[in-house]
Amino acid sequence: MSVDRIVSPKDDDLIKSFNQDNENSLRPKDFKSYIGQEKLKRTLKVSIKAAKMRQEPLDHILLYGPPGLGKTSMANVIATEMNAQLKITSGPAIERIGDLASLLTKLEDGDILFIDEIHRLGRNIEESLYSAMEDFKIDIFFGKGPTAESMRFDLPKITIIGATTRTGALSAPLRDRFGILHRLEYYTVDEIQQILHRSAAILHISIEEKAAYELALRSRLTPRIANRLLKRVRDYADVKGLKSIDYDTAIETLNLLEIDDMGLDHGDRLILRTIIESYNGGPIGLGALSAIMSEDNITIEDFYEPYLMQVGLIERTPRGRIVTNKAYTHLNIKKD
Ligand code: ADP
Repeated sequence: MSVDRIVSPKDDDLIKSFNQDNENSLRPKDFKSYIGQEKLKRTLKVSIKAAKMRQEPLDHILLYGPPGLGKTSMANVIATEMNAQLKITSGPAIERIGDLASLLTKLEDGDILFIDEIHRLGRNIEESLYSAMEDFKIDIFFGKGPTAESMRFDLPKITIIGATTRTGALSAPLRDRFGILHRLEYYTVDEIQQILHRSAAILHISIEEKAAYELALRSRLTPRIANRLLKRVRDYADVKGLKSIDYDTAIETLNLLEIDDMGLDHGDRLILRTIIESYNGGPIGLGALSAIMSEDNITIEDFYEPYLMQVGLIERTPRGRIVTNKAYTHLNIKKD
């Protein structure tokens, strides 16, 4: 279900390869066009300036937080600001130490390697990464058992930017190798509006203020979703022959997509309704919830829960998930 959700912040691999060009064209490439996340930008500006003055590579950086909030975009921005080359890979794509070694040895001093979903790196690969990050060296083992031999290779002095949706899944030794760790926050409605106006200009359409506000309210405060909604609304505006996206068209589209005024879609409402109707509001364990939703635990924890918690519709307790009074009010259900 999550892959097809218009409000899913997940950049599914399939969708990614299909949408790559589209997302890239909307991706901010410098600090000026990267809206929001002011604290992160301030920290990075200082670090970048210092690294440039010392003519050294930038410290390794770990960015974490829900998908679609701008981790890959920030890697692009950092590369631009450092005048560095950016290479992008992901944890699951690096299957063997040999893959990691060939990836790293192809880089040059000062390059930046972005590893998305870094928490999904295999254990042995993660361990090889330690020396690569610390000493810019990698050990490759030949053979197995007592006769195994290792050879040490020098690597270029690069910066690793790791991205993860879950720091909890990252081992402490790996986390410790990053000099800068930063959590990306949900955006404000005002920031999402600015992002919508910027994206609309790139897509050569205009959007009225009231329409942008309405889309921002229903975007789960996530740029990827805001952009996705914008494209859907643009389709409707095109079909109607409108020059500019107006409020009525925005509302009609959002209603057609069944996205309500809190940005919840059918799946979110089903979660809340199920906890209320079948579990009397909770508590309910993650396993039971996943089973009911026919989703895996990770999808529930990474894609549904963070926003539902952010807007105060569910809470996590030691005994399980419970829905809040706000959820009852939102769904117009009387609490008994
Ligand atoms: P993540 O890597 O965290 O999943 P991305 O960096 O891929 O998120 O962001 C998804 C899309 O959202 C980008 O293609 C970009 O268009 C938009 N976006 C994200 N952050 C920002 C931002 N701060 N300013 C403008 N657009 C943004």
